[in-house]
Amino acid sequence: MGNIVAIVGRPNVGKSTLFNRLIGTRQAIVNEEAGTTRDRQYGKVEWGGREFSLVDTGGWVVNSEDVFEEEINKQVGIAIEEADLILFVVDVLNGITDLDVEVAEILRRCKKPVIVVSNKADNFEMHAAAAEFYSFGLGDPYCISAINGSGTGDLLDKIIASL
Ligand code: GDP
Ligand code: MG
Repeated sequence: MGNIVAIVGRPNVGKSTLFNRLIGTRQAIVNEEAGTTRDRQYGKVEWGGREFSLVDTGGWVVNSEDVFEEEINKQVGIAIEEADLILFVVDVLNGITDLDVEVAEILRRCKKPVIVVSNKADNFEMHAAAAEFYSFGLGDPYCISAINGSGTGDLLDKIIASL
């Protein structure tokens, strides 16, 4: 098994914030200008005596969900192809959107392991709301806050165990 972990999800769920949190620097630009296209970001993460490469696929921030929809197959497709494990990031503050459902459909069909990451669970009250993400059929959602770091240790343990 290889060790490439890709972060996928619709715009604004916090992919780049999570990327920066896990690699421990601010390499990826968070909440960048709409419409700006950037390259994919790669970083190294060490945890529990293991190392893996992390990919932020969020270089395709766009200002409309229509544009994103065109890009979605391509970008998620690249991630699926190159990754050994996929972090499917969703946003518990906003709940499930059509784009989330679309990404989930693609991920269910792929043969790669997927971890559903329920981001923006900044406090414990938000954890209950994450139950809706079971409906993706992609396993247990992992509640984290990429901003304050809560839950990210457990997520890293899960990533290492899944590689
Ligand atoms: P991306 O488009 O998926 O890469 O999302 P970004 O990382 O650029 O984040 C989009 C917005 O969500 C920014 O304003 C972030 O500050 C915010 N954000 C990211 N993670 C969290 C979180 O854990 N909690 C909250 N409340 N906001 C977050
Ligand atoms: Mg981003």
